[in-house]
Amino acid sequence: MTEIEDLKEQILKEYPRLGLEDKFKFECGPHLECFNVCCSDVNIFLTPYDVLQMRKALNIDSTNFLSKYTIIPFDKKQKLPVPLLDMKKTETKECYFVDAEKGCTIYDHRPWPCRMYPIGSASPGETEVHAEQFYFMMHEDHCKGHQRSREWSVKEWLEDQVPNEYAEFGELFKRVTLHPAFAQGKDLAPPQIDMYWTALYDIDKFKKFIFESTFLQRFDIEDDRLDAIRENDEDLLLFGFDWLRFSLFGEKRIQIRPDADKWIKGKDAKPSIKDG
Ligand code: SF4
Ligand code: SF4
Repeated sequence: MTEIEDLKEQILKEYPRLGLEDKFKFECGPHLECFNVCCSDVNIFLTPYDVLQMRKALNIDSTNFLSKYTIIPFDKKQKLPVPLLDMKKTETKECYFVDAEKGCTIYDHRPWPCRMYPIGSASPGETEVHAEQFYFMMHEDHCKGHQRSREWSVKEWLEDQVPNEYAEFGELFKRVTLHPAFAQGKDLAPPQIDMYWTALYDIDKFKKFIFESTFLQRFDIEDDRLDAIRENDEDLLLFGFDWLRFSLFGEKRIQIRPDADKWIKGKDAKPSIKDG
């Protein structure tokens, strides 16, 4: 089992499940003695939408963001790479974005796990997109927020902390990572994993692949969509999801041009990020 699967199994066994209407008491902020304690030495796995938002906050490109602020834990049992937010190499291992006085310096663009905390979410199905999702409460000794009297339902907490786009992009992400083909034993070849990483996480590199390779000679993308992809990161990421469902799983989500063959190197070549 991978580290993520181990954690999931532990959650499924040990954590009481919460529904959207379940209530809990919690409050967070600079007035608490534990302010910022939760922003050190913590495992925060990032979704593609998290990376998009964080690099937007920092105004740097995705390649730079990924190399400066993330690590990819090596686990050969894991089918797909998942970036983990890197922490400073100090004794206390603070997050790069925490400030002693201001707290999170990218607060409006903070990643999904930081928004959800102290609520976590999981689903029992390993490989099912529509598996029932449930929530659970994380209790950590250092977090004094649980001792406060402000009451929330899970639904109220999510509405307050997590904009809808996180859930919408999360659903699309699951349609790739939990694709039925994986349940049937599909493994991705290294160039496909490279494509997955580029299309979902290193989206500035993906944009170059679209506009600076033979891509547009091979695939017929509507002009309006191309304009949107050029101008807007969210549209670029939406296209990345479609591209992967087409190129990895054969879903008919992208139109091949009738004369595409002449641009593809080698008779049986599959689209690759390296095709120029
Ligand atoms: S991204 Fe912000 S909220 Fe999340 S750990 Fe870093 S400083 Fe804390
Ligand atoms: S209340 Fe919990 S989440 Fe808020 S700052 Fe303190 S440790 Fe972090």
